[in-house]
Formats: sequence, C-alpha cells, structure tokens
Amino acid sequence: MSKWIKRTHFFSSDKYECSSCGRQFDRPSAACPGCGAAMRGSQYDPSWVDEVEMLDAIFDD
Ligand SMILES: [Zn+2]
Repeated sequence: MSKWIKRTHFFSSDKYECSSCGRQFDRPSAACPGCGAAMRGSQYDPSWVDEVEMLDAIFDD
C-alpha cells in the first residue's frame, strides 16, 4: 500500500513523496506519476486521516 508523504520545505513549496519510489511531486495524485502505485490512506497511521481530508480539498479544485 502506497501513500503520499508530505514534505514541508521552508524555501520552496511543499512536496509529496511517494512511499513506494521516494520521488517527490508538487501535488498528490490518485496514482504516483513516477511508479504508478495506487495511493491509498494507511490505516496504521492516524495522521493520514487528516491528510486524506486535506487531499480531498485539493482534488476539489
Ligand atoms: Zn512512486
């Protein structure tokens, strides 16, 4: 199961790192553009729930 790991940077925009291949992208997407892994929330990481809600807000625009 893959997910986006948000990387916050002080001097550039936030990046989203693929937990499968480790590549970073400006925006999260339903599947990693780098390795094609389908992104799903992790049931083992409670913090991910909040991020899913945040991602939903991003996808709405
Ligand atoms: Zn990837």
